[in-house]
Amino acid sequence: MEVPTNNNPTILIVGAGIGGLSFYHSVRKNLGKKFNVKIFERETSPQDRWQGYNIYVNRKGVTSLFYCTPPEVQARFPEAMPDSVPKEHHAIAVIDHVGRNLCHIPLHKTKTVYEIEPLKHDFAGIVTYRNRLRDVLLEGVDIQWGKKCVGYEENDDGVWVLFEDGTREFGNLLIGADGINSPIRKQKVPNLEILDLGVTSIDVDISVPKNLAERLMSTYANAVVQKSIGRNGDKFFSMMRFIPIDQSKETCYRVTLGFSYPTDLDLEDNISIDDNNPESVIKHAISRIKQLRSSCELTDLMIELFSLVPLSNPGEKYPFRTYNPPRRRQLRDINPLSVPPWKNDRIVLLGDAAHAMNPLLGLGVNNAIQDADLLTKELLNYANDNLIECIQRYNEQMRARSSKDVLTSRDAVLKQRTPLGNFGLVVRYIFYRILNIIIYVFAFFKTHF
Ligand SMILES: Cc1cc2nc3c(=O)[nH]c(=O)nc-3n(C[C@H](O)[C@H](O)[C@H](O)COP(=O)(O)OP(=O)(O)OC[C@H]3O[C@@H](n4cnc5c(N)ncnc54)[C@H](O)[C@@H]3O)c2cc1C
Repeated sequence: MEVPTNNNPTILIVGAGIGGLSFYHSVRKNLGKKFNVKIFERETSPQDRWQGYNIYVNRKGVTSLFYCTPPEVQARFPEAMPDSVPKEHHAIAVIDHVGRNLCHIPLHKTKTVYEIEPLKHDFAGIVTYRNRLRDVLLEGVDIQWGKKCVGYEENDDGVWVLFEDGTREFGNLLIGADGINSPIRKQKVPNLEILDLGVTSIDVDISVPKNLAERLMSTYANAVVQKSIGRNGDKFFSMMRFIPIDQSKETCYRVTLGFSYPTDLDLEDNISIDDNNPESVIKHAISRIKQLRSSCELTDLMIELFSLVPLSNPGEKYPFRTYNPPRRRQLRDINPLSVPPWKNDRIVLLGDAAHAMNPLLGLGVNNAIQDADLLTKELLNYANDNLIECIQRYNEQMRARSSKDVLTSRDAVLKQRTPLGNFGLVVRYIFYRILNIIIYVFAFFKTHF
């Protein structure tokens, strides 16, 4: 364990997710002369919990990640964000329920993550293996594992963070980077509540053979962030890299899949699904797809993909474990501007703990990393007694930025939750086509001038 040998203030970080780890690196890299830092995690080891799916890290997230991390970590980014292969386009494609193109957001073609970092526009990003990014960010970090935080006590000199095992730790600043169910947020801002968006989602990672991966790529014109909006409030989502994860027997690719639908459907049908039984959950996902989608090639592809979800653990396959028991999950969010500004003190929230957002627009991780970047830059101004002023500036900017993304993501989910008749479908089609033209023009100017 790291023992501070100077009189610098100590920052305690609770939560070693992408947000907490980014901030840890950033303190060491950018604030090492001003602060000591310690990080605590409730999991007992790096492999304790499945670390998940493919995520989209946008240009802002990439730039902040570079700002926060030292060169030895940056050198390992391609493990999590491999160089693009020619066929891949890191674009976002949205199609309708039968596969007609609605919107194709053109993103700047880059070969490597290093090319994204210096860009000045936001039309770029990279599909990233979230679990591998977490592994890379663990490099050189002295985590205290098995430390489940249950609360804190603040006094004039600093703050004690309290752990379930009865131990506690003293510091000058406590960072709650402990995710959507953050006990630190619950204590600090008890009225900041989680909102259930009334949409149920079943998300899984699967390993798919080459022929299916190629079908997915061609359905979405080689875009690797893929969405199909249904007409009954449902949505099918997939995200992939066209890079094999396994070639031992058959060439396989990792695809993150999600199918979401209005939660009311489950309540109205009064069905009983055993969320602890993967077979029951996947059968349910497939029956909802059949119920909500018309019969067509795209629907067949969706069913085929969900049928590939393993129903029992096929064993650890490091570094690409593609099995996690599927469950139904409610899409939820937290809007930090839904309550009056909270007190600027030694307790600081970062990432999902402050502003969880639904995954539809893929903005959650990006905001968590931007928080780490912003908090560092504010703490660079720390001198003498101005700690609380630094925190105040962070809180104001973090709340404004993230609330905007929470509400945009929320709005997108609520709009798509509404079932549409034929007229509504035509309106939606026209809306997306016009939107697409506007985005193309905007992107052209941003990326060329
Ligand atoms: C299916 C899906 C797809 C997504 N896709 C994208 C995407 O494409 N792009 C994107 O930007 N975002 C995406 N997200 C969102 C993204 O994963 C989260 O926003 C991000 O993980 C938040 O990071 P964080 O560090 O704030 O919190 P977390 O990743 O939740 O980390 C919190 C950490 O705190 C630890 N912890 C929790 N409680 C305690 C405690 N009491 N004591 C100690 N430690 C504790 C946890 O174990 C965890 O390690 C997606 C999310 C989902 C579910």
